[in-house]
Amino acid sequence: MSIADPAAALRGAGLRVTAPRLATLAAVGAHPHSDAETIARIVREDLGTVSRQAVYDVLNALSDVELLRRVSVGGRSMRYELHRHDNHHHLVCRRCGRLEDVACAVGEAPCLIPHDALGFDVEIADVVYRGLCADCRAAEAAPTPSTP
Ligand SMILES: [Zn+2]
Ligand SMILES: [Zn+2]
Ligand SMILES: [Zn+2]
Repeated sequence: MSIADPAAALRGAGLRVTAPRLATLAAVGAHPHSDAETIARIVREDLGTVSRQAVYDVLNALSDVELLRRVSVGGRSMRYELHRHDNHHHLVCRRCGRLEDVACAVGEAPCLIPHDALGFDVEIADVVYRGLCADCRAAEAAPTPSTP
């Protein structure tokens, strides 16, 4: 998954086209749901000359203009993906951290309305389904090795 014309996407978002921004979009497109550290490593392998902090700044700038979407998986960890504006949700495994996309159960934002929106105009419901993935369920079901 990648953006057809990343330079045009940057310009359309009002951002200058720079090598770190292009490399970051490419890295996130090729490695969706990666964390900032992983994206920074890939971009730095790609460009060499860019600092880790510079990549973090790019991730924030691209998220602010909604070219990228931040996915909170709990704690302080954020994962990144190309923003497809499709209101999809995520499944997160609490054991291994595996993260998967799932379509919205309803299909349009916001798919969940609070009982009382307290005057808010709710635009999106960011749903994260948490639990154990199939592999981890199998691992937990397996007999634990007995300690001698
Ligand atoms: Zn798991
Ligand atoms: Zn996703
Ligand atoms: Zn939904």
